[in-house]
Amino acid sequence: MADDCLFCRIVDGEVPADVVTRTDRVLAFRDINPQAPTHVLVISLEHHPDVGALADVDPEALAELVRVGRQIAAEEAQGDFRLVFNSGAQANQSVFHVHGHVLSGRDMTWPPG
Ligand code: AMP
Repeated sequence: MADDCLFCRIVDGEVPADVVTRTDRVLAFRDINPQAPTHVLVISLEHHPDVGALADVDPEALAELVRVGRQIAAEEAQGDFRLVFNSGAQANQSVFHVHGHVLSGRDMTWPPG
């Protein structure tokens, strides 16, 4: 667990979350400020700062994260989804523990803001 990491504290149960599912590698819980009917964050159980770091160190956990996101969209919103990894402050990352935003259940526009 990284010092002072909000999502590590959610993994450890120190901070409550609306958990959707958990595997041996990832945890999925609902975003506290949802931007779509389904807005779930899928995170690695282990601390990695962003998706690139996870890909370098544990690509199977990244694949698991994607599979879990796909499964949630299939179960909650007929399958179509957007999977967003904000990486770095300029890209609007605010929690530096890798998380994929699974957004689903509404029409999306492009480009993103
Ligand atoms: P990002 O800006 O990509 O780092 O995304 C961080 C996300 O975490 C935001 O969408 C927040 O709404 C969400 N968030 C922050 N704190 C919590 C929390 N305690 N439980 C669930 N989601 C959270």
